[in-house]
Amino acid sequence: MIDLNNPEIKFALHAVRQAAQVVQRIQADLVSSTLTKEDRSPVTVADFASQAVVAWLLEQVFPHDPLVAEEDAETLRQPESSQTLEMVTYYVRQFTKRSTPETVCNWVDKGAAQPAGRFWCLDPIDGTKGFLRGDQYAVALALIENGRVALGVLGCPNLTDAYRPDLCGTGSLVVAARGQGAWVTPLDAPGEFSPLNVSQRSKPSQARLLRSFESGHTNVTQIDEFIQIMGISVEPLRMDSQAKYAVLAAGKGDLLLRLLSSAKPDYREKIWDQAAGSIILEEAGGRITDILGKNLDFNQGRTLAKNRGICASNGLLHRPALKALDAIGAWSGD
Ligand code: AMP
Ligand code: MG
Repeated sequence: MIDLNNPEIKFALHAVRQAAQVVQRIQADLVSSTLTKEDRSPVTVADFASQAVVAWLLEQVFPHDPLVAEEDAETLRQPESSQTLEMVTYYVRQFTKRSTPETVCNWVDKGAAQPAGRFWCLDPIDGTKGFLRGDQYAVALALIENGRVALGVLGCPNLTDAYRPDLCGTGSLVVAARGQGAWVTPLDAPGEFSPLNVSQRSKPSQARLLRSFESGHTNVTQIDEFIQIMGISVEPLRMDSQAKYAVLAAGKGDLLLRLLSSAKPDYREKIWDQAAGSIILEEAGGRITDILGKNLDFNQGRTLAKNRGICASNGLLHRPALKALDAIGAWSGD
């Protein structure tokens, strides 16, 4: 069992629950069918509110711990963002009376810390496209100590039991701490924790591959070549955000690839996009490496600077997957 009395674990579970709650409220209020696809304002408000809530809680529980997070308040402080800031302040106020435009901006700016030693790493909304589409998204929080992920929590409001897409369900709060396994509990209310274990599938032909929903976030041509070489006959599962790692950890998927889009060969993964998901997968018995088989390196600043793509698996399929990636020349990026 995971140690629920551990202060870091307790904080991370609470913070992700609270952040997911603010994000869900904003989604219910603002994401409506009247919005055009280009209108990103709800996700902007939700992103800032989620980050402010986590930073506010961190300030109380671990005031000296740095936070490395996706957003900063520079644009939020501009006069033209005053309406956005007002909305963020309104939603954060539902969690703390201390919410004012000034405190909100300061909380958001706490996320600008430099990654070093022990720090927290947050994606306030991972999978913003999924959030706007009404699909999968996650609040992702991890604790990194000297370049190693020690603890990871994913709050997935539209995923039940860590694998089942469900817009009206309990949601999933997924947690893993180094050496303590990976677990899921309902996101919407305190409940039991169930262990997560990867699948035992070892036949490549039967493997279910998880990939980004957005084609622009990966390399579809290479994924098709990979499927051919592996002889995979199962339809890949397209899903947004680190929810994919939860599904893999729950044994409902067997492989996950993130390959560089040929349109954006210089894109580099941000640490908050992989930290929580990676420890959850590892603690469920899976494996995650770059496409050459090396461990992810969380010691390179705010990005995985040396990374050119990610291969994650149930462990049993890792070797054949790396071999197939080598055969298609995935490292070359075209
Ligand atoms: P996914 O939902 O798996 O597509 O991953 C979502 C993450 O992909 C978000 O955190 C984005 O920041 C990130 N992202 C944005 N652009 C790209 C890109 N060109 N390649 C890979 N990931 C990207
Ligand atoms: Mg993200």
